[in-house]
Amino acid sequence: MPQRRAPEVVRLSDRSTAILERLAQLRAADAATHGGRVLSYVYDPGLAELDELAGQAMRLMQPVNGLDPTVFPSVAVLERELVGFATRMLHGDETTVGTVTSGGTESCMLAVKTARDGWAARAAQPPASRARIVAPVTVHAAFHKAAAYFGLDLDLVPVDADGVVAAADIIARFGADVALVVVSAPGYPFGMLDPIAEVAAAAADAGIPCHVDACIGGFALPWWGGVPAWDLAAAGVTSISADLHKYGYAPKGASVLLQRDRDRQRRQYFATVRWPGYPVVNPTLLGSKSATALAAAWAIVQHLGDDGFAGLVASCRRSTEQLRAGIDGVTGLRVVGEPTGPLLAVATDLAVPKRARVDPHRWADRVAQLGFTLQLQPGFEQPDGTRLPPTTHLTITPVTEQRLPELTEALTRAADDVRGRAPADMRLAVRALRLTGAFRRELTAQRAQALLRRFGVGRPGDGKTLPARMAPLMALLEQLPPEFAERLLIEVLARQVEPAARR
Ligand SMILES: *Cc1c(COP(=O)(O)O)cnc(C)c1O
Repeated sequence: MPQRRAPEVVRLSDRSTAILERLAQLRAADAATHGGRVLSYVYDPGLAELDELAGQAMRLMQPVNGLDPTVFPSVAVLERELVGFATRMLHGDETTVGTVTSGGTESCMLAVKTARDGWAARAAQPPASRARIVAPVTVHAAFHKAAAYFGLDLDLVPVDADGVVAAADIIARFGADVALVVVSAPGYPFGMLDPIAEVAAAAADAGIPCHVDACIGGFALPWWGGVPAWDLAAAGVTSISADLHKYGYAPKGASVLLQRDRDRQRRQYFATVRWPGYPVVNPTLLGSKSATALAAAWAIVQHLGDDGFAGLVASCRRSTEQLRAGIDGVTGLRVVGEPTGPLLAVATDLAVPKRARVDPHRWADRVAQLGFTLQLQPGFEQPDGTRLPPTTHLTITPVTEQRLPELTEALTRAADDVRGRAPADMRLAVRALRLTGAFRRELTAQRAQALLRRFGVGRPGDGKTLPARMAPLMALLEQLPPEFAERLLIEVLARQVEPAARR
């Protein structure tokens, strides 16, 4: 049977053309995915051919259901070859097995699911208490999500002012109820490489699995140079996640999870024959799934190969070093710690007098007016009461290098423009709210929406959800009780997909 319809040219009707025109119009209002003006969310290699290659690969895979590689063997071949590439780059061996997932969150969740089921199987008695995940506070939110979804406790270890965690502080938390320890390569908020080899070795001694979250670094650090053992080369690392849709430059929807040891990894799977329908076996969270991102990721990896990645990472490294040097030269700002990889977090330099300080969020808002979007991270109170400062995050990609002079100029000028301005302070507003008893009452959708409007978020009809200045919003999120802030965030997002007239 022919696999494809005859390659007749399908002419689009006026109706289809109008639909696509509307889509193009909608897309025109989005943040720029190319060109290096957005320093988060998007990973642009600056190579137009890769986009075209990925697009055509997705088109070829468009009708396939990735659910069943025995029916669609192409899916198994692509996945096997991607897992093979990742295994070589991340120093796996013949005991390494893996899966392509829909993204970093899914990879991390599956690492946790595997560990939880392994822990429950090891527990001599049916476990009375809940299992624990031990990780630095800088561990990605995906592990908060995994803990919440799968019913584990997340035991967070404080980091120092430079975002560095002491291996001994992690190891001190080990115990019989620990199902998994997680370290990052690097951590997203500050770009810090955790003490992976030390923690993994101690975890192995304690019989605890160790996951390396290399979602962001997994396809950059292999070519970065001078990084101490951080992947499967470190003894005791039992699994590692690496996102193809970050520094693998694939369209969203692709990540790799590698696990050591077949028998451990089989706990990642779900299978059931206990229903009247088809026998189910899933390596990942989804059932029926697209194989388009898989195909795009595979094509890009085939195209780039080891050398292609090396060249792109070298560009990221040059840009990161130059940006760091540039920011180090700006009075009132400091780069947090010694990051490893193409990420930087920027905080206020408290060593200079107040009038010379630069608030990183006022700075980011001003940089946005000058044409570059940076990512604001609120200040954070650690479990031991110490505070991590508000920061602004830069994700550097290969395309950054083309914009370097312009970007450096914008960063410097924005700092000059806001130097001496105090950080946004929402404590009065938050205190007023507390006095009304708002934090004791349940936050209904309606009350949440009313509050958001009061704070200038999500005004209906203006087509914009977020205020032009993000600094006050970040200050608000930082100063509200976390459950309250989280409920407001849910409201902002949920309202996006309600009919406009109702908002
Ligand atoms: C991006 C990221 C994740 C989550 O990945 P998504 O692809 O956004 O789901 C997890 N860990 C780290 C370190 C990340 O950078």
